[in-house]
Amino acid sequence: MKLTKKQAQEKINDFFEDIDNKTSEQVKKIKRLAMHYKIKLQDKRKKFCKFCYSTRLKVRKITKNKKTVECEECKRLMRWKI
Ligand SMILES: [Zn+2]
Repeated sequence: MKLTKKQAQEKINDFFEDIDNKTSEQVKKIKRLAMHYKIKLQDKRKKFCKFCYSTRLKVRKITKNKKTVECEECKRLMRWKI
């Protein structure tokens, strides 16, 4: 199925609305779709683990300008600027 870039963007937005109910397999797929259509995920990238694509993230620490999040699947840490 061919999507226009706008349709792909909508699909991605819908997906992230309900991100908590998605599996890492589905996240991987949607990321591939975004890349295919050259759509930037921006803040949506922070909704899943960049290593294993799990959506089970736990905030560990928040400082003035950084947030540390731990993935409950692979236990790796990610740091984001806020
Ligand atoms: Zn992970």
